[in-house]
Amino acid sequence: MTLQTAGEAPKGIPRNPGRAELGLKATLLFPNREIVEQYYVPLIYTACRTCYSELTPEDIFTRAATGEIETAKMQRLISNVIESGHGSTIEHVVFTFGISGVSRTLSHQLVRHRAGVAFDQQSQRYVTFKKAATMLPQTIAEADPAIRAEYEEQIHGAMSLYGDLVSAGIPGEDARFVFPNATRTNLVMTVNLRALIHMSGLRLCTMAQWEIRRLFQLIRHEIFQVSPFLGSFLAPKCVPLGYCDEMNNRDGHCPIRPHKDKVLEAWAEKAKAARAAGRELPVSS
Ligand SMILES: Cc1cc2nc3c(=O)[nH]c(=O)nc-3n(C[C@H](O)[C@H](O)[C@H](O)COP(=O)(O)OP(=O)(O)OC[C@H]3O[C@@H](n4cnc5c(N)ncnc54)[C@H](O)[C@@H]3O)c2cc1C
Repeated sequence: MTLQTAGEAPKGIPRNPGRAELGLKATLLFPNREIVEQYYVPLIYTACRTCYSELTPEDIFTRAATGEIETAKMQRLISNVIESGHGSTIEHVVFTFGISGVSRTLSHQLVRHRAGVAFDQQSQRYVTFKKAATMLPQTIAEADPAIRAEYEEQIHGAMSLYGDLVSAGIPGEDARFVFPNATRTNLVMTVNLRALIHMSGLRLCTMAQWEIRRLFQLIRHEIFQVSPFLGSFLAPKCVPLGYCDEMNNRDGHCPIRPHKDKVLEAWAEKAKAARAAGRELPVSS
């Protein structure tokens, strides 16, 4: 257990939310495995190869989609291109997810992503809820029973007031003002692969809030079901970077990758030692 004083951020990697049953779901609605295998890798390969080939995209795609080009060869080129940051090549394929039972706390974070992603969300104006559901954070579930009861009483009170307001003829769009952040909601999200890798980099990071981190664990799982190859690119951003750039991890409490300050310190020490020995450190190996 880690000690924490008032006003101080919690230390240590936040507990992996993957084990808790949060009642939220992410389901890949489109595409299925057959479509991904038949078209997605060939499509991305075609985009990459068109840049370096005299052949037309039509010819490249026909060869790729009919098995004339080995999957391993296509995957190698795609991996190299992604690693080099040539991101437009992976904007040609999209994934559509049904996301349900997430809190409004989560959805507010999710819809902050703007590039390469489209959302449609259940309306609190047009839906008048008979029984709106809420999310109970694990820390509160496991807290002192008295404080948990106080929380539940507040949530229950808000929901019950919503019902009273609606019964009194207040429109749902106004009654919803009493809903807490804990209220559950549903969305459809369509995202291209480039944006999905970027979003996963941020949201699978241990600095991300637990609920959205859990959502992206589920999303990664869904992509793995249709393509372990494409799924392998969904990782905390420090994995492809090779270092952590989160300022809140300067103390190195998350050990997945060293913090960039440590990497630069090590580099500076090596460069100093090399200069003392009368040589410059080569910038590439
Ligand atoms: C751990 C964590 C903590 C956070 N805390 C807060 C917080 O306290 N308060 C808060 O308000 N937000 C917070 N955020 C949200 C964050 O600031 C971003 O709004 C969110 O992560 C969306 O990411 P993005 O900006 O990369 O956008 P995306 O829309 O996913 O964009 C992808 C990329 O496209 C480019 N891009 C997109 N739009 C533009 C544009 N208009 N101009 C130029 N380039 C563009 C950028 O390179 C961007 O990185 C937090 C996010 C994380 C992961």
